[in-house]
Amino acid sequence: MPELPEVETIRRSLEPRVLGRRFVRTEVFDPAAVLSPCDPLRLDRELRGRRVTELARRGKYLIFRLDGGSLVIHLRMTGVLLLDGGAEGCRVRFELDDGSRLLFCDRRRLGGLWLVEDESSVVGRLGPEPLEDSFTPELLGDILRGRRAPIKAVLLDQEAIAGLGNMYADEALFLSGVHPLRRACEVTPEELGRLHRAIRSVLEAGIRAQGASVETYRLPDGTPGGAQLLFKVAHRAGHPCPVCGAAIERVSIRNRGAYFCPRCQK
Ligand SMILES: [Zn+2]
Repeated sequence: MPELPEVETIRRSLEPRVLGRRFVRTEVFDPAAVLSPCDPLRLDRELRGRRVTELARRGKYLIFRLDGGSLVIHLRMTGVLLLDGGAEGCRVRFELDDGSRLLFCDRRRLGGLWLVEDESSVVGRLGPEPLEDSFTPELLGDILRGRRAPIKAVLLDQEAIAGLGNMYADEALFLSGVHPLRRACEVTPEELGRLHRAIRSVLEAGIRAQGASVETYRLPDGTPGGAQLLFKVAHRAGHPCPVCGAAIERVSIRNRGAYFCPRCQK
């Protein structure tokens, strides 16, 4: 569930607490959380003494850049990172040299982490970052061109655009008036401009509201975000559309629920 705004919120919140700190001890409670190529039994020894030089984000991945290699974390559906607090399903606990503890908890155990020398082995195939200046309407047009899949499916493709997930893609499509089942290649130039603006505005609003706590997402201090309160269609099946009053509908696109207004979105 955590998408770009949630991971960026976690990054901004953790950055002042972890920057310059060294890992002193790592406890792996669930070896399956440590993903290939690193050995869960060696994670503590490998991380010990390494210092965090930068906390970065790429798409939905959080990247601890170290003085030698990177620790990359993906939260998938239910992962959370908590400072000095616990939650259900704690998988890995990191202790830093100021005594603070960072816990990676993950009820459904779908997320994971990698300790790698070169982070591009994990994040190298991701598409462009939608909030960077280089993400222009022209670039979005290039991404959609020739794709016959539903626009919603293309927006969720992390190799097409990095960081958009189910909630913010639904919101962006609603804001731009585009039906989630439209073929990506059939979006008109005018709709493309609206969609480009909408993608950026929903992501920026999500970050300002510190992410959406629809399910398990929490900030590292355990508090919920507020972006779910801004949602107009996401997870709102049956509620009235805030523009026209029609009931919000849900369809399944490649096993993911897509929420939309049947009247406002063409
Ligand atoms: Zn409507």
